[in-house]
Amino acid sequence: MKALVVDDSRVMRMLLAQMLREVGFTDVAQAEHGKAGLSHLSDNPDISLALVDWNMPEMTGIEMVEQVRKNASLNQVKLMMVTTESELSRVEQALTLGADEFVMKPFTKDVITDKLKILGFSL
Ligand SMILES: [Mg+2]
Repeated sequence: MKALVVDDSRVMRMLLAQMLREVGFTDVAQAEHGKAGLSHLSDNPDISLALVDWNMPEMTGIEMVEQVRKNASLNQVKLMMVTTESELSRVEQALTLGADEFVMKPFTKDVITDKLKILGFSL
């Protein structure tokens, strides 16, 4: 299973990528902003999950979600926003635009695993 972590924080990318590998994703790519994430997804339509940060340069997470959902060839990818408490009020907007789930920081591997099961991943 392939995944993508999109976050402008290198530390957060590494942490999330490590967690995804631990729960069973064999191939976890990283992108440092929404524009790079969108480009990577377009080039790799077999990615089944993207974790997406909100605040990033070039293209925010919510703009990325909107662009991904405009692209019918990327229907298969599940989009999970990684959010802070202060962004919770915007979660509804993200879900309306096509995000599938969200997880709030700080999170544990168990929380991530539960959310992925809700999304239909068998881990
Ligand atoms: Mg950020």
